[in-house]
Amino acid sequence: MPAAPKSPIKNGERVKKIIARLHRAHPDAKLALNFSSPFELLIALILAAQCTDEKVNAVTGSLLFKKYRTPEDYARVPAEELEADIRPTGFYRNKTRAIQRCCQQLIERFGGRVPDNLEDLITLSGVGRKTANMVLGNAFGQPAIGVDTHVMRLAQRLGLTRQDDPDKIEADLTPIVPKKDQVHFCHLLQFHGRRVCVARKPKCHECVVSDLCPYPNKTPGPVQQKPRPAFGRKPGRL
Ligand code: SF4
Repeated sequence: MPAAPKSPIKNGERVKKIIARLHRAHPDAKLALNFSSPFELLIALILAAQCTDEKVNAVTGSLLFKKYRTPEDYARVPAEELEADIRPTGFYRNKTRAIQRCCQQLIERFGGRVPDNLEDLITLSGVGRKTANMVLGNAFGQPAIGVDTHVMRLAQRLGLTRQDDPDKIEADLTPIVPKKDQVHFCHLLQFHGRRVCVARKPKCHECVVSDLCPYPNKTPGPVQQKPRPAFGRKPGRL
């Protein structure tokens, strides 16, 4: 892992430049999951574990959000029926259990509404800090950093943290990312992580923040092929 610069002031300045450049490079960056309420986002995030956002959107858009509108709808349906409805997202038995428990907790403890604070959100079944922060940031408009796999990898490569634990990475990022930018910062890292700073072989040669990135193993660009001589001729001879 690259060494993180020690000064938080320097890191703060670097973060502002990173945000500005990534914003220009990925003007379409936003949360990839579709939702129209905090409750729908909560369900979508539970389904998104070990599943692509596209598949979750396909399931929620075609069926789930039309058939189930309230926590009561999910809590009362037989588990087998909900399992069949969310099956394409994988791990459907665990997800059904988490969704039904979560909805039961929402009904019993929060009047059927999704709480708008971290302390209450993380008491819900299937909801960790990442999910809670994503709900707070994207559905309630609060400053929050949800550390998913892309945010974690890019924060490490960009030298903004030396930690491996998502909660500690969140604690490192929170003071250096301006509050007003925190939610969008995560979207930018997610888009950059999918398009350029991919996990196995980051495309450093086409990265707009490469001069701000201390990642030690920057991958080289594609090798320029020398023009090949015409068939039967020696190189350099016409
Ligand atoms: S320079 Fe390479 S490692 Fe650093 S952020 Fe860009 S793509 Fe990722």
